[in-house]
Amino acid sequence: MGEPLIAGNWKMFKTVGEAVDFVRELAYRVSGLHGVEMVVCPPFTALAAVSGLLRDLGAGIAVGAQNMYWENEGAYTGEVAPGMLKEIGCRYVILGHSERRQYFGETDVMVNKKVHAALAHDLMPIVCVGERLEERESGTTEAVVRKQVEGSLAGLSAVQAAKLVVAYEPVWAIGTGRTASASDAQQVNEFIRGLLRSLFGEVAAQAVRIQYGGSVKPGNAAELMAQPDIDGALVGGASLEVDSFTDIIKNAV
Ligand code: PEP
Repeated sequence: MGEPLIAGNWKMFKTVGEAVDFVRELAYRVSGLHGVEMVVCPPFTALAAVSGLLRDLGAGIAVGAQNMYWENEGAYTGEVAPGMLKEIGCRYVILGHSERRQYFGETDVMVNKKVHAALAHDLMPIVCVGERLEERESGTTEAVVRKQVEGSLAGLSAVQAAKLVVAYEPVWAIGTGRTASASDAQQVNEFIRGLLRSLFGEVAAQAVRIQYGGSVKPGNAAELMAQPDIDGALVGGASLEVDSFTDIIKNAV
């Protein structure tokens, strides 16, 4: 596989000032580091400032948004269009995060529209899937993940699918301090790779980067990244501190 993709999802944290200070320090700490691809996903308000600063620093750190709407423009109060993200230098966009599904009613159908719209604007979607605790305990993890993958990625060509990042994020591991074991995470990521193979063929399935997310920390990053079907991490809480995010990045190489 290629380089691991480590993305920080800042959720609804950091003002513009805090975000700019953070990435300036991060860029300094990771300068000269090779063998890993890095992304930060600040809130909408800080995207332009962070993206401009990282471009000026030539830091090799990409920027992603945490959500977007699927229409190009229109009377959709409060929404942000794909072209607007592209214009300010976003390369990635997180889609279908479990918090969007849980608190804002996002469905696989909506995520699917967003995936198509993102790819049409040359934004790389980070598509989140993952089971809730009761689903894991009742043995339906694979059925749940299958439904989310098939629904979210419906109608894509193999060429489009090859550009995707899929993040396997078991909901019970997000923000709880309870990480999936490396072997449990590998098992589901391998299952997702198999699904992608059956949907889009071997070449596309190998090209998709499949991340793991859920309480990734400096201490567990290396073991997770060593798994054959874990191609990176989507990091929430530990991406908010420059020390822990830097350590995760360094431990992933
Ligand atoms: C996330 O929100 O995508 C996430 C993985 O959060 P945390 O690392 O805090 O569990």
